Amino acid sequence: MFFSITELEHHPVHFDLTYAPGEIDFGEDLHQNGLLRTAGQAELLKNTLGEIRIQATVQVDFDCACHRCLEPAPQHIDETVDLFFRPQPKLENHVEVQLEEGEIDISFYEGDGVSLRIALRDYIILSQPMQYFCQPECKGLCPHCGANRNLTACNCAAERIASKMASLREL
Ligand SMILES: [Zn+2]
Ligand SMILES: [Zn+2]
Repeated sequence: MFFSITELEHHPVHFDLTYAPGEIDFGEDLHQNGLLRTAGQAELLKNTLGEIRIQATVQVDFDCACHRCLEPAPQHIDETVDLFFRPQPKLENHVEVQLEEGEIDISFYEGDGVSLRIALRDYIILSQPMQYFCQPECKGLCPHCGANRNLTACNCAAERIASKMASLREL
């Protein structure tokens, strides 16, 4: 879905739609599971130089891998977003773009408007944590034998102490 300035000049655009996995490229770490649902509206803000505001609900599930143990670490997103887009400033004007406090959610668009798909992709990728965990206390994989330490207590730590003791005795 594309919100063009030309249309928004006449009226806000409402939407209620779904995206199947693959329709939005979320990168390598986020594997969309099931439909992404989004509903809301886009409007052109009055008395601005073409600032577009998108307010929407977003629901989507992702299959991710735990950064410590590689087991599934599903992520569920159910949020209301409020995004602002300004026309990309022309480079030749050498305008320093300074965002004021509270304006962190402002992005820029080039051309005639904003693509909902790209707006959602950027928002979701940026709002995600850098790492996912299957559980906050995940113990991860043993660096020696590769066992999942959430499931089994391997003996590597004990064996290493034993072999250290043995080599100390040899001295
Ligand atoms: Zn884990
Ligand atoms: Zn081990």
